[in-house]
Amino acid sequence: MERYDVAIIGGGMVGTAIGYGCAGHGARVAVLDEGDVALRASRGNFGLVWGQSKGDNMPAYAAWTRRSIALWPDLAERVSVLAGRDVQYRQVGGLTFCLDEQELVARRDFVHRRHNQGHASVRMLDRRELEELMPGCPLGPDVSGASYDPNDGHVDPLTLLRGLHAGLRAAGGAHLPGAPLDAIEPAAGGYRLRRADGSELLAARVVVAAGVATTPIAAMIGLDVPVRPVRGQNIVTERLAPILPKPASAIRQTGDGTVQIGVTNEDDGSFETPTTTAALAGMAARALRVLPPLAQARMVRSWAALRPMTPDGCPAYAESATHPGCFVAVCHSGVTLAAVHAGPLAEAVLSGAVAEIAAELHPSRFVGMTHVQAH
Ligand SMILES: Cc1cc2nc3c(=O)[nH]c(=O)nc-3n(C[C@H](O)[C@H](O)[C@H](O)COP(=O)(O)OP(=O)(O)OC[C@H]3O[C@@H](n4cnc5c(N)ncnc54)[C@H](O)[C@@H]3O)c2cc1C
Repeated sequence: MERYDVAIIGGGMVGTAIGYGCAGHGARVAVLDEGDVALRASRGNFGLVWGQSKGDNMPAYAAWTRRSIALWPDLAERVSVLAGRDVQYRQVGGLTFCLDEQELVARRDFVHRRHNQGHASVRMLDRRELEELMPGCPLGPDVSGASYDPNDGHVDPLTLLRGLHAGLRAAGGAHLPGAPLDAIEPAAGGYRLRRADGSELLAARVVVAAGVATTPIAAMIGLDVPVRPVRGQNIVTERLAPILPKPASAIRQTGDGTVQIGVTNEDDGSFETPTTTAALAGMAARALRVLPPLAQARMVRSWAALRPMTPDGCPAYAESATHPGCFVAVCHSGVTLAAVHAGPLAEAVLSGAVAEIAAELHPSRFVGMTHVQAH
């Protein structure tokens, strides 16, 4: 039976980043994955590397996000080489547009609160300042202002995933798709993992990073980690000449020229991923108020994907008390946090110091908690 230092359950953005990081430190890593039926947030997301709104309810999450953003330029350089093409990380600052007075007042309050929490880089811009920041950008007349954080940016998330997988393989790691994990049992020197096709492997350490499927797998290692699916719908247009120089929450122009428009937050407990005409029409209508010339653009595709959401919307990391050497990692900002997952979190998995780097993010905080809105 094959024996590994670390087995990761889940080959999405979170599991692969941790696996890539562990393999880079010389660990023998296997990433277990499902087949094409998998519900993968990592292949359906918006691609923002975003701090301005993260951790509004949890300072530890805000700090963890800032740490990741600081590590992103280095990750982007490495991943671009590994993927064989530019991951298109652009830290050009990010915007959240306000389209009327009510949104402007609410956003101003939000920015004040962020400042009180020590997140000083985000600020409000009025219409004139927006025009100065993006000369020639054809903003619609309804755009009254925006919050702006110069540290925010965006990336091509599919190239990121491809690069992380390439990095895992280049460091000697194995990606084992095609059969879900069925069971984790203690064995001499670690844990025996059984897959649905009957194959087994041994691992000294196990990391559960299974996105929306995390809850039942975390239970196998004695951890209670409630994760629910929150659906997000997306639209992408044909390629256009440069029209929006900075990414915004729910609208960004990709490096290829397409404009990605998002996103819904549908919290109905369903694991289905349909798109709906009503939601797409609403998203498109708002995007047209931001950038009226989009009225001439053809939509080429729409899709939906599921965010892995914890009760407070913040990440959860822990080592199991009943299964030492077994960990869980789940979050709804796996693009933004890829740099800390590949760096400090992977190192903590190897050293067993996960509790030290992310004490406040332990899932035990969820006991008795009802769902709150994600940040
Ligand atoms: C619409 C949308 C927009 C988003 N926008 C952003 C954004 O702009 N910025 C950002 O930072 N984040 C964003 N996210 C969130 C981000 O995509 C996720 O946090 C991230 O992809 C989660 O990665 P993951 O690896 O945990 O989960 P997933 O990508 O879902 O991967 C989980 C993996 O686990 C595997 N798995 C499940 N069960 C088993 C099993 N039993 N055995 C083996 N493998 C198993 C699956 O096959 C899958 O490959 C967005 C998400 C959505 C849906």
